[in-house]
Amino acid sequence: MRIILLGLVGAGKGTQAQMLAQHMGIAHVASGDLFRQHQEQGTELGLLVKQYMEKGDLVPDDVTIRMIMDRIEREDCRQGFILDGFPRTMEQATALDRALGDQGVDCVVNIRVSQEELVRRLRGRLICRQCQTPYHQTNLPPKVEGRCDKCGGELYQRADDKPDVVQRRIQVQQGLLAALLDLYSKQGKLAEVDGEREIEKVSEQLLEAVSQCSPV
Ligand code: AMP
Repeated sequence: MRIILLGLVGAGKGTQAQMLAQHMGIAHVASGDLFRQHQEQGTELGLLVKQYMEKGDLVPDDVTIRMIMDRIEREDCRQGFILDGFPRTMEQATALDRALGDQGVDCVVNIRVSQEELVRRLRGRLICRQCQTPYHQTNLPPKVEGRCDKCGGELYQRADDKPDVVQRRIQVQQGLLAALLDLYSKQGKLAEVDGEREIEKVSEQLLEAVSQCSPV
């Protein structure tokens, strides 16, 4: 099963993708997480993408596409994968279709959330420095303050979750998302879930939407 989760920044893609991947036993491939790992490790790619990420701009397509294509060729993606944060542009979507051959992806789900709710959510978002698991100060707090429930790693607020950068990220993403929704809707692969409900309810809807798609 090859799934794409779409949604604006803060829609809950990371939380939902992690839970769904675990449930289905397939890989969770998050472009933002991969870029942040490169930055933490101080790789050449990490240094290259820093300037874009800090401003809330997209990393150039060629760099992003190469990184994701390398990732989905790995062994753990053989049974399937959930893409979270990729594709974000038409060029990325086209490259993905080309790489996957005629059948393309099996299922695309958009997590819909209003802009006001997104800004409110991102203000309280925390991420684990080690395993990238997302938390929220009030909606999804960790059991021990400042520590990840899963690995004990330190929780921090992303520099690009500050309100002015968030606004820019939303602006950058809105038009692009509309084009992707149009593309996948025309391919008959698009489903939508209401991302403003509680996390468990969104998961249920997501699972329901995914169960309606079957691998080609
Ligand atoms: P995210 O964690 O998905 O919110 O991504 C954080 C940042 O990583 C974005 O603001 C971009 O700078 C970069 N990024 C993540 N995914 C992509 C993508 N598919 N294309 C270009 N840049 C991306």
